[in-house]
Amino acid sequence: MDHLPIFLDVKDKKVIVDGGGTLAARRVERALDAGALVHVYAAELGGEFRELQNHPSLTHHTAAPQLPDFAGATVAYGATEDADRDRALYDMANHHHALANVADVTEYCDFITPSIIDRSPLVIAISSGGAAPIIARILRARIEAILPAAYGKLAAFSGRLRERVMAKLKAPESRRLFWENTIDGPVADMFLAGDAKAAKKQFLKELDATALGQDISKVGEVYLVGAGPGDPDLLTFRALHLMQRADVVLYDRLIGDGIINLVRRDAERIFVGKSPNDHTMDQQDISELMVKLAKDGKRVLRLKGGDPFIFGRGGEELETLAAANVPFQVIPGITAASGCASYAGIPLTHRDHAQSCVFVTAHGKDGVLSLDWETMARPGQTVAIYMGRSSLDFLMEEFIRRGVDPNTPAAIVDNGTRPNQQVIKGNLSNLYERAEAASLPGPALVIIGSVVELRDRLNWYKNYAADQHSMSLTARTKL
Ligand code: SAH
Repeated sequence: MDHLPIFLDVKDKKVIVDGGGTLAARRVERALDAGALVHVYAAELGGEFRELQNHPSLTHHTAAPQLPDFAGATVAYGATEDADRDRALYDMANHHHALANVADVTEYCDFITPSIIDRSPLVIAISSGGAAPIIARILRARIEAILPAAYGKLAAFSGRLRERVMAKLKAPESRRLFWENTIDGPVADMFLAGDAKAAKKQFLKELDATALGQDISKVGEVYLVGAGPGDPDLLTFRALHLMQRADVVLYDRLIGDGIINLVRRDAERIFVGKSPNDHTMDQQDISELMVKLAKDGKRVLRLKGGDPFIFGRGGEELETLAAANVPFQVIPGITAASGCASYAGIPLTHRDHAQSCVFVTAHGKDGVLSLDWETMARPGQTVAIYMGRSSLDFLMEEFIRRGVDPNTPAAIVDNGTRPNQQVIKGNLSNLYERAEAASLPGPALVIIGSVVELRDRLNWYKNYAADQHSMSLTARTKL
């Protein structure tokens, strides 16, 4: 290690920043955040100072800093990119025993500034020892992405309860165990889910039980998580966090490998099937299994394709959990209509085409199709049909029978957002035929409305399968 990692207390201490540009603004901002009295030296302050300028702890000097200015300073930053001025700053800072840091000039640096992830009071600093700042920055972005924004608040919450724990649990070992359980258990879950009150109640309950030497009875929980249409990059941060916390995961056919591999490695995996004709496990069994696992104290991840509340039977599963008093949380996902439309270059609404958009499923509770055709056939709207592949011929004919123009553009998006996405475009009268001619393994979503035409100009998603498909179409057309 080339440097000593420390966090410096600069509260109400003098910090000098020489420069008025972007770099200087960043230094000033961070020093002010840490409570320093900041003196900035620059003939003029750049636009980035607009928000900082009136800060009560900031003093602006238009002249360059002089030796006496450094008396009593803790830290001095050089950010002028002027070699002579940088050197002078370094010498003057040293003279007064202030720690100097001149941007990008290693020999004028007593310390380096790390990349930070700020979840105050929790702060993570990363340094590559100046060797590869870009790596530190990339790493920082990754940690930013995986660390819930509320972690800082969780740290503050724990901080406020520290004294109570100290008073109740005398042995450092039992305190360590207690903290480990709470920070990685239901208390943290409740807190991060936004229920600070319940978290505190549970915390105190667990503290009392631990002080009395009782085992804390573990409360399980179910995370009903939307995994999006397939591209793992479309997961939400929260989905990823909970995927990393789960003890057991229940998933079905719509969840691709790319996503299931992001679940915590040692979590148990239970495939609950559900393809249109092969129900590996029926709905009630799935819900009951979740209740049982949660009552055993497990953190159960119920991973659903798309959004759990859009044709995902999420509501039905939750009703069983609620009836059994199992705590749960629901994380939305990108629903197939939204994902497929974006990746196919078909805006679902557009002021020149559609002012509304309806999502319908072609599958009823007992497989019976009972659609509100009057609503579906309305002009000026886009219709997105889930589970419509197997009844595509019927659907297209029915639109026409209800008086919709047979030339109305329509498309089917198969495996939307995935590397093997295929989009077949046509109209109400020929889409079925075209879909039959292609090989579409499913899942597939049908989009009907004049917005489909926009794909010709807005298609942006290129993938191997799409290229192959259009090549084979071209070949066929030529024949
Ligand atoms: N809850 C899911 C929908 C489940 S119903 C969601 O919000 O997306 C299953 C149907 O969703 C499939 O029959 C298909 O119509 C559609 N679907 C799901 N993923 C899809 C994908 N990647 N591409 C195309 N359609 C998809």
